[in-house]
Amino acid sequence: MNMRKILIANRGEIARRIIRTAHAMGIETVAVYSDADANAQHVREATQAVCIGPAAASESYLVIDKIIDAAQRTGADAIHPGYGFLSENATFAEACAGAHIVFIGPPPAAMRAMGLKDQAKKLMKIAGVPVVPGYQGDDQTLDRLTRAATAVGYPILIKAVAGGGGKGMRRVDAIQNFAAELRSCQGEADRSFGNAVVLLEKYVAEPRHVEIQVFADSHGNVVHLFERDCSVQRRHQKIIEEAPAPGLSDAMRKAMGAAACQAAKAIGYVGAGTVEFIVDTSQPEYSYYFMEMNTRLQVEHPVTELITGLDLVEWQIRVARGERLPKLQNEITQSGHAIEVRLCAEDADSTFLPSVGTLKRLRFPSAARVDSGVAEGDDITPWYDPMIAKIITHAPDRMSAIEKLLSALDETIVDGVKTNRAFLARVLGTDSFREARITTAFIDRHAAMLKPPEQVPARVFALAALAIITPHVHSSKKHHSPWLALGGWRVNLPEARSVMLSSHMAVPAKITLTRCASRYQIDGLGLPLSAHAKWCSDTVLEADLDGQMIRSVLLVSDTKVEVRIWGQTFLLNRPDRQVSAASAMAENGEVKAPMPGRVLDVAVKPGHFVEVGDLLATMEAMKMEIRVVAPAAGTIRQIHARTGQQVSDGQLLFEIDITEKS
Ligand code: ADP
Ligand code: ADP
Ligand code: MG
Repeated sequence: MNMRKILIANRGEIARRIIRTAHAMGIETVAVYSDADANAQHVREATQAVCIGPAAASESYLVIDKIIDAAQRTGADAIHPGYGFLSENATFAEACAGAHIVFIGPPPAAMRAMGLKDQAKKLMKIAGVPVVPGYQGDDQTLDRLTRAATAVGYPILIKAVAGGGGKGMRRVDAIQNFAAELRSCQGEADRSFGNAVVLLEKYVAEPRHVEIQVFADSHGNVVHLFERDCSVQRRHQKIIEEAPAPGLSDAMRKAMGAAACQAAKAIGYVGAGTVEFIVDTSQPEYSYYFMEMNTRLQVEHPVTELITGLDLVEWQIRVARGERLPKLQNEITQSGHAIEVRLCAEDADSTFLPSVGTLKRLRFPSAARVDSGVAEGDDITPWYDPMIAKIITHAPDRMSAIEKLLSALDETIVDGVKTNRAFLARVLGTDSFREARITTAFIDRHAAMLKPPEQVPARVFALAALAIITPHVHSSKKHHSPWLALGGWRVNLPEARSVMLSSHMAVPAKITLTRCASRYQIDGLGLPLSAHAKWCSDTVLEADLDGQMIRSVLLVSDTKVEVRIWGQTFLLNRPDRQVSAASAMAENGEVKAPMPGRVLDVAVKPGHFVEVGDLLATMEAMKMEIRVVAPAAGTIRQIHARTGQQVSDGQLLFEIDITEKS
């Protein structure tokens, strides 16, 4: 059939992903958007766009009538639901059919068959696919469920049959907690999914999550596109996915592929789907069990695309047009290894709490596939998923793919929201991940190791100091600021320069760099180091430290230096620069206002002795609170600042008698 225009009932990266393929196939697109997404990238990129209501998804992206109406008004002949939202909603698929619009997804009956986890498990059992031992009966009384739990044996998992996205699950370790956890799970299931029915499953200790990508057409062909390992999860949600799954025997991969195709056939499946398995690794002979089927395109589909060289969205569209699968099983091959990380706006060091804000700076890596829904200047709002981008690399082998991904993460810059970037890099850097010892318990198990580093090695201080004093060769206009220029060598500077750096806990280090021919001698870090450094780009510094060549990413700002190296991110403060590097004070002990503003508080009195970096005053300027700190150690001679005073740029605030330190 002919398909001229596709409406995408979604937003963010997946909407853009679908638009990309549709346009490449010569098909026009219609974006839908909520008020919160009026300026979103997917709206700009689609051929047409229709506003479908307020920010809350329940009043826009989840309203079937509004979406069907938008499709009819724009003359779209098909709807792609993406993932999440209405993608697994059979009623929506039926509404599309009722309006003579092609739903790019499986038949509603197949969605229903897999929609509830208990029904799906029953079906799979009949089809001969192994399922996790458990209870999926209709009798939901406390008494019956308690007896079932005892029969299955603790620990068990209570799962909402309508659950998804890691919600509506409770692990129970002993019978005395069962009743309470059951009630809590039923409550959450009712609130989130409008269905309080649960099933019980044997809790598989430290399992792996391995899933099979399947594809079927309306001519009876069913194939699989190999597996993905998605074991690295937080809160039962995936954050790292890869293909192929490391360490599985060929026999097992074949058997799982066949079981997945069997599952798809059993329900008359058409289109893209994923059969999720849980793999029990507690015995040398791994066993696998069907967990659920996702009747849609998966977030992590890019890793499969990279190892197979196929475009899964193109396949979805072709199948929806009634075409045969472009390839049959024996024509589908895989090569190399692909890994994806989900870069999210969240605080990985504090229970992965989502972080909202404006993406003041956003730079993505050049040597990786990046699927993102946002651009610099866009907002991460509290309304939707906090995913900023998926970053995916492909290489001949797993280790090279990991290395490539680590470099890609080092190159990634996000300012304005907290992200899990450094956390993801730390995961990729662990020995356990590299040796593919991964289970769904990975993050909990390695929690201590995955914390931000506390100790900052001397070499990291040295790199930061070198970065501060090494001038950029190709400093572009955009990055030219008078403050940054202060960081480079100036014409009349002495042959030795000092740089103040402090890590979050320790006292600041005074690092002195003395020029000797083309190198520097670096003092102040214990043993003296001999170094040479040059910038390879505006963020990549190549340094030779005592003969060891080190390439690292350094983000130097007025007040901080971020060093990314060895899979770790180190943050150093520049205590002498906390005043925005504005007032060229230091030498004569004069401290001036870094910008016009109001003095909020004066923290010192005449005669006080201050160390470098000690707080002198706080100011409010440009709606920010700014700390004015001591540029050098010494005694406060005179104070010109008063609380509440309005000061102009460069106005004298303090005079310090600088103490000469030997
Ligand atoms: P995948 O296996 O593709 O990672 P998930 O179950 O994590 O699938 O869901 C994919 C996306 O769909 C998620 O990123 C989330 O935005 C959305 N989603 C899935 N289930 C829910 C849910 N119950 N509530 C809200 N969003 C959901
Ligand atoms: P959702 O619909 O929320 O994706 P799933 O049934 O796919 O729910 O399970 C999500 C995750 O929970 C799995 O990837 C796995 O990490 C964990 N999990 C699910 N079932 C079990 C089980 N029986 N034992 C241990 N962990 C499980
Ligand atoms: Mg799942």
